[in-house]
Amino acid sequence: MLTKKTLQLSLKSLRDFAKKRLPDEELIALDERDECPVEIVKYMSDPEKLGIQLLFIPEEYGGMGGSTFDVYLICEQMARIDLGVATTLFATFLGSDPITFGATPEQKKFWLGKIADEGTLFAYGATEPDAGSDLGALKTTADRVEKGGKIVGYKINGSKQWISNGGIADVYTILANTPAGPSWFIVDRGTKGFAYDKPENKHGIRLSNTAALALNDVYVDADRLVGGVEGQGLIQAQMVFGYTRVMVAAFGLGAGWAAMDRAIPYSMKRIQGGTPLSEKQGYTHKLIVPNVVRLEAGRAYIEETAERIDAGAEGSLNTEGAIAKYMSTEAGHKAADDSIQALGGYGYTHEYMVEKISRDVRITRIYEGTSEIMEMTISRDRWQLHLKTRGQHYHERAKQAEALHAAHPNVGADVAALALHALAEVMEKARVGRLTRFQHVLFRIGEWIAYAECAATLARRAALLAEGRLNEKANDRFDAPALAAISRTFAREAALKVAEEGLGVIVGAGGVTDAEMSGFEMAIGLSAIHRAQAGLIADMDYVADVLYGRAKKRVAEEPAEMALRA
Ligand SMILES: Cc1cc2nc3c(=O)[nH]c(=O)nc-3n(C[C@H](O)[C@H](O)[C@H](O)COP(=O)(O)OP(=O)(O)OC[C@H]3O[C@@H](n4cnc5c(N)ncnc54)[C@H](O)[C@@H]3O)c2cc1C
Repeated sequence: MLTKKTLQLSLKSLRDFAKKRLPDEELIALDERDECPVEIVKYMSDPEKLGIQLLFIPEEYGGMGGSTFDVYLICEQMARIDLGVATTLFATFLGSDPITFGATPEQKKFWLGKIADEGTLFAYGATEPDAGSDLGALKTTADRVEKGGKIVGYKINGSKQWISNGGIADVYTILANTPAGPSWFIVDRGTKGFAYDKPENKHGIRLSNTAALALNDVYVDADRLVGGVEGQGLIQAQMVFGYTRVMVAAFGLGAGWAAMDRAIPYSMKRIQGGTPLSEKQGYTHKLIVPNVVRLEAGRAYIEETAERIDAGAEGSLNTEGAIAKYMSTEAGHKAADDSIQALGGYGYTHEYMVEKISRDVRITRIYEGTSEIMEMTISRDRWQLHLKTRGQHYHERAKQAEALHAAHPNVGADVAALALHALAEVMEKARVGRLTRFQHVLFRIGEWIAYAECAATLARRAALLAEGRLNEKANDRFDAPALAAISRTFAREAALKVAEEGLGVIVGAGGVTDAEMSGFEMAIGLSAIHRAQAGLIADMDYVADVLYGRAKKRVAEEPAEMALRA
């Protein structure tokens, strides 16, 4: 784990480097030329220069041993600079993950040491033309080569699709089927029979090299089988999802904020109808504030999950990683799209960057598991909790939020509790009607879970900030009253979403008869959730004032309505 000072120095050197070597004009030119700046990436990976990869590598292998929390902040910063370059650096991290988590001690020492000392670029080769979301459909094979009854190596045959760094990596980790099941192999660039295709002509992250790979009778020695045991590949890939998805979540967050941080100052200068856009509620409360609120809900979930991973939480926190990724990448994409709108015609041109950010951030909803796969993962996992607790899981979480509200009446925990109670009731209705047989219902439940859990998490973090107990490395853009207003705003959105969409979809799936309708509306607390919208505009006004530097300092924990009356 890095000290706060070392982390801040690393973040600053990244920012300074980007200012010098990757200013907007350079990013636009590279994007237009569809070019991966390999020299810059190599400079950033050189341990004598920036050595970004050292942050990911454990100290025992020559790295700096950054915690999940440290790596999240670095990923966010990278994404604020350029998501293509961030992806290029992240691919080494992802490519070496099967080694970090599944390799033998000798393999770890050799390969992780190589990345630390030489800045070796890796690529992660899992996806295939016919195996994307469903990696189980993998067709690449690794056949044993035996001598004297002993396995001495493997012959790999197959193809890989959409591989980041595919054309520029020094080393590739390749997932292939052995007789005992999928396994990871380490393959050097230039090995006989190994080839990569021309870079893909992509919608976004055009500074990242993406290429297909072909493997024809590629021979590797047996010591290139990660972990030395066949059939562990999918388990090794699964082990890191909690962690890697938090990183992609940070990409969504960084890109979304990069767009907002262009739209906000723009709207202060742009005069229409005699006044700046920043003073128009119809503009700020549609294009700016809701995006900031959703981004910060995503951040709260990222930070809490990162802290739990660093504290050695049981299990791999795959579902939490999925929630963090889902919320932050969807929020990042919406923020970037709305930033184009916020800049009007200028936003639609290359020069103003937000259209590039919007194209770039789009990928975060696809790679490391699509948003729909996230919805499925979240829903399936929490569905089990719902069944195991006989429908009480989210009622219990709601009670915890109610207890938080008793101690901190201003962080929106009461409304988060309404969202959680509604969620429990919607899930129970789905159970009784056996409605998860409809995939649409199952996936939508995944979305409502993500919203309700994020509302509770954001309220918890707003309370911790008010108590001065938030992680010292946590993002400090907002003070306690501002984060409380953000939390209240998000909790209202989450509760409304769960209750109204939940009602609509459950009724749509035939789960509620006419006679049951008003009872179900009562059970999900529809009327209470509508009443909880009171104060929404005042809170959004306050968040806008904070964003535009117009807010008067507020006493912590003072309700928005009171402050406005004062
Ligand atoms: C720029 C880029 C870089 C990438 N980098 C890498 C890399 O470095 N290494 C690597 O291994 N891979 C990489 N990928 C691959 C990426 O992880 C996959 O594209 C992604 O997992 C989706 O797989 P797919 O493209 O085959 O889409 P599909 O799986 O075919 O999905 C298509 C659509 O169907 C939906 N869908 C899929 N399954 C279901 C289901 N069961 N139910 C309902 N809906 C479903 C998806 O959500 C999606 O909307 C990269 C992709 C891109 C575009």
